Amino acid sequence: MVVGEIAESIDLLVIGGGPGGYTAALEAAALGRTVTLVDRDGPAGLGGVCLRVGCIPSKALIEVAELRSRYAALAVAGLRGVVEPFDMGAFQAWKDAIVARLTGGVAGLLKAAGVTILTGGFRFLGARRGVVDAGGTTPPQFLEFTDAVIATGSTPRALPRLVRDGVHILDSTDVLGLTALPSSVAVVGGGYIGVELGTALRKLGSAVTIVEAQESLLPGLPSEVVTPVRKRLSALGVDVRTGTSVAGVEQDELVLAGAGAGAVPAEVVVVAIGRRPNTDDLGLADAGIQVGADGLLAVGPDRIVVPHIAAIGDVTAGPALAHKATAEARVAVAALSGRRVAFEPATIPMVVYSDPEIAITGAMGIDQSRQASVRRPFAASGRALTTGDPTGFVRMAAMPDGGPVTGVHIVGPHASELISEAVLAIEMAASPEDVWSTIHPHPTLAEAIADVALDLRSS
Ligand code: NAD
Repeated sequence: MVVGEIAESIDLLVIGGGPGGYTAALEAAALGRTVTLVDRDGPAGLGGVCLRVGCIPSKALIEVAELRSRYAALAVAGLRGVVEPFDMGAFQAWKDAIVARLTGGVAGLLKAAGVTILTGGFRFLGARRGVVDAGGTTPPQFLEFTDAVIATGSTPRALPRLVRDGVHILDSTDVLGLTALPSSVAVVGGGYIGVELGTALRKLGSAVTIVEAQESLLPGLPSEVVTPVRKRLSALGVDVRTGTSVAGVEQDELVLAGAGAGAVPAEVVVVAIGRRPNTDDLGLADAGIQVGADGLLAVGPDRIVVPHIAAIGDVTAGPALAHKATAEARVAVAALSGRRVAFEPATIPMVVYSDPEIAITGAMGIDQSRQASVRRPFAASGRALTTGDPTGFVRMAAMPDGGPVTGVHIVGPHASELISEAVLAIEMAASPEDVWSTIHPHPTLAEAIADVALDLRSS
């Protein structure tokens, strides 16, 4: 700090206004701390990528696409009528209203909790000092803090061959802001975003190609859960090319190399090849914090990086998921406030909003010699049949002799909603008997979880 610069004293500073950051701010305020939250976009940044340009907007698009597709599929059940072409402009207005309502809600909660919000990029200048730079003519604001939480999230990884221009080469944020449906879309990356957006855009009417470098779509997930998704993509007419890389890009085509070599139509190209933690411009070295080669920060079980500074969410190891960041926020703030705490969830569930949805919690493969696992198809569920799409299954694994449930995989309708029962079962060390002897309402999809637990009894 230059002599003469007056620094403002801050009690607890939160850097980043996403799901991790705003939760940390609210939690700290609830613990009696005086909280300042700084976000590059200020109040407009509240909610972060997830709420403003990621999870929520994409789920809005997926919902609309799913309804449209299911309406057509249920002609067999008597649901007939012309579905007008999709109006992406109307969608944008609807989606923006949802996002505005949510960000307004977050702003209201922070205000009620007395959290001060600063606008600008934050950079550390020392172990307990930093500066907020809003750019332009706004003078930098110097801060001295007692404790800080780094919750700066992540940014889409770029592909040097396909430099984003926001018009022809897009990232997922650009796609979710489109006001007209492209006639053809080539999605590079067959992970979460590629599969979710590719499926939705196809259902709305675009011709879609998904290009995945690895041999399998959704690499890392068990083939058993990926296969129904792959089959559905094929039925929808999505051109999935695995083991394939991008060789070049033309005006309206993407040129591919590898197993799926050739040229595919691409009015727009969407690059979704993963995300990189936002740790480059934080001046972390000045705070005595080392950054790993992958851009991640090493934290202890209490999420502390160096004394008085914690890190949560996408800047730390583990899945880059909002619900992980939120859970870590509570631990980090408690630790910084002198409590003995650790982030030790029994399981962090993950969901892919594919068609059918995939939801996974716990572990299937641990100690396979002793662990039993049983699978029950949704085709055996009356409620699933009445949805018109009884695709998929529930698989449950448990330790033998009445031991606890260790893992649950759900593929099928509303898997994203159903998985929480399994998460609770694992967190509470419930046995399959605990699950099946709990009365489930009939007729529901959730009964499949009780049924698979019962099946484990006789396996
Ligand atoms: P991802 O890691 O899920 O998938 C990226 C995919 O791109 C991988 O399959 C990878 O093999 C492939 N790839 C990498 N380089 C490539 C190349 N040059 N050519 C072709 N393929 C290539 O990443 P994502 O889909 O960008 O999503 C980012 C993160 O955002 C996810 O990891 C997840 O943590 C989060 N996310 C979560 C949800 C959800 O919870 N439902 C949804 C969207 C995103």
